[in-house]
Amino acid sequence: MKVNLLDLKVQYNNIQQEIEKAIKEVLESTHFIMGPNVKELEKEVAEFTGVKHAIAVANGTDALMLSLRALGVGPGDEVITTPFTFFASAETTSVLGAKPVFADIDKNTLCIDAESIEKKITKNTKAIIPVHIFGQMCDMDKIMEIANKYNIPVIEDACQAIGSEYKGKRAGTIGHTATYSFFPTKNLGCYGDGGMVVTNNDDLAEKIRVLRVHGSRKKYHHEVIGYNSRLDEIQAAVLRVKLKYLKEWNELRYEKAHVYNELLKDTDLVLPYEDSDCKHIYHQYVVRAKDRDKLVEFLKENGVSTAIYYPLPVHMLDVYKNLGYKEGDLPISEEACRHTFALPMYPEITRHQQEYVTTCIKKFNSI
Ligand SMILES: *Cc1c(COP(=O)(O)O)cnc(C)c1O
Repeated sequence: MKVNLLDLKVQYNNIQQEIEKAIKEVLESTHFIMGPNVKELEKEVAEFTGVKHAIAVANGTDALMLSLRALGVGPGDEVITTPFTFFASAETTSVLGAKPVFADIDKNTLCIDAESIEKKITKNTKAIIPVHIFGQMCDMDKIMEIANKYNIPVIEDACQAIGSEYKGKRAGTIGHTATYSFFPTKNLGCYGDGGMVVTNNDDLAEKIRVLRVHGSRKKYHHEVIGYNSRLDEIQAAVLRVKLKYLKEWNELRYEKAHVYNELLKDTDLVLPYEDSDCKHIYHQYVVRAKDRDKLVEFLKENGVSTAIYYPLPVHMLDVYKNLGYKEGDLPISEEACRHTFALPMYPEITRHQQEYVTTCIKKFNSI
């Protein structure tokens, strides 16, 4: 038997007619850039999240970049983020000539730790980017309390967390801005690249809208140096179809995660921690194993694909040698990189498939 980490084909088969109709309508309209689908999608995502503004952009990385630019981050500034994440929050900081500063994570949630953030604040700190890793939100009350104390804006990297909640508030409603990615494998994914910034702040929203289209409000009247970071109509049309199912898909992921919890409860794996303040949407179902690499290899031999998010913490990447971190500086992140891995997870995974995965894990444990 083979179980993939993710199976986008089943999802496509379920919504094929709607998707093809939506794409065909765009093709026939010949309106491919900044048309009605982008406008409607922005309204629909703003409503889904519960924010005033949603600005569609080319991808989740640009959503971070434009947020940082709108906040005025540049050379000489520092941005605090987590090393246990995808590269983008640090990368965009570096692209803008600012310095990423890494704070350690909480050992249970694997999200950035508020106390560690506070220790890293200097007079140069210009922004904080907490990442809602794997679909569970960071401890936002504590993070906002520290951010407000030092008057530092917060960008929620919610690229893995659209629809997840903290104390009843959706990811994206708490920070000054927040970012979503519509990369195909995300909980809400399009058929190419896509992203969005959400915010309640009128001024930041306006700045980001201008930065998105070459720094212009009026065509050919460029006011600032901007970007070409638009979402195209075909992707927006696909996303509008899929957004209707997002809540249901997130709930299914949650149910399947609990099926794994039940099936794996007597193993020595450390199962995902659920914070009682949070509604987890299980972008990934991530466990910890003592003998991670051997277990991953064994599962692969048995047809189960898994993934290691992330094999190296960002502060230990070669590109950041110049920042001067050494092993042991952020021990919880480093430990997580050595022992965590993700099991197959998607809304349509069957009980039969999950039983196969967990049987293989138990077989490994007994040898
Ligand atoms: C996917 C992801 C991004 C980047 O999004 P892209 O759309 O691929 O540019 C940024 N941050 C996190 C945490 C992500 O998972």
